[in-house]
Amino acid sequence: MTTVLFDMDGVILEGPRTDPQVYADAADAALAELDAEPTPAQRRDFKNHDTERIRAYCEELEVDLARFWKLKETYASSGTHDRLRSGERGIYEDVGAIRELTDRTTTGLVTNNRHETAEFVAEFVGIDFDIVRGRDPTLEGYERRKPAPYYLEEALADLGVSDGLYVGDSPKDVVAGRAAGLETAFLRRSHNRERECPPNATYELESLAEVLSVIDEPVL
Ligand SMILES: [Mg+2]
Repeated sequence: MTTVLFDMDGVILEGPRTDPQVYADAADAALAELDAEPTPAQRRDFKNHDTERIRAYCEELEVDLARFWKLKETYASSGTHDRLRSGERGIYEDVGAIRELTDRTTTGLVTNNRHETAEFVAEFVGIDFDIVRGRDPTLEGYERRKPAPYYLEEALADLGVSDGLYVGDSPKDVVAGRAAGLETAFLRRSHNRERECPPNATYELESLAEVLSVIDEPVL
């Protein structure tokens, strides 16, 4: 039976991405902890992920870049986890299909989101993935996100497999999945309803339940 890896945001967690306010609050908390006093314009850039500018400002303000980055990521994770616990951010109703799949085959969670949050989500939704991989809390880790296949390739190597299926809600999931040598499934959600299905996606799915039928299809 084939290995099935899942993206997280827009597949398990409702909505395509972390609310920008989570990162804004995380940047403020990290800057305060480091006693940094950026200008309002600099602060705005610290809240986004403009790595070039953040590098430059850290030098200018004599802020340790690695410490800032890690603190921001850590605060963003706890902000995200609070929102999940409170129900402010929901879980898709069809994730039960993944739970069912974990009994039948090797599964993994591979996301651009923070590794700490990926581990929290796996536990929170009670899915026993064989591997969980999110981005490392470093600037380098941030730059290895999809469409780069880095984290997918790492997960496959850890599992000791070289083929499988990657299920995601974004065209970059298809790009990364293919680059890692996987089949890909483009999952339809309300936020990507208007997008064209990437032409090189292996499958286009209307729900996670359809993953079960796809992997049961006989190989032609
Ligand atoms: Mg996604």
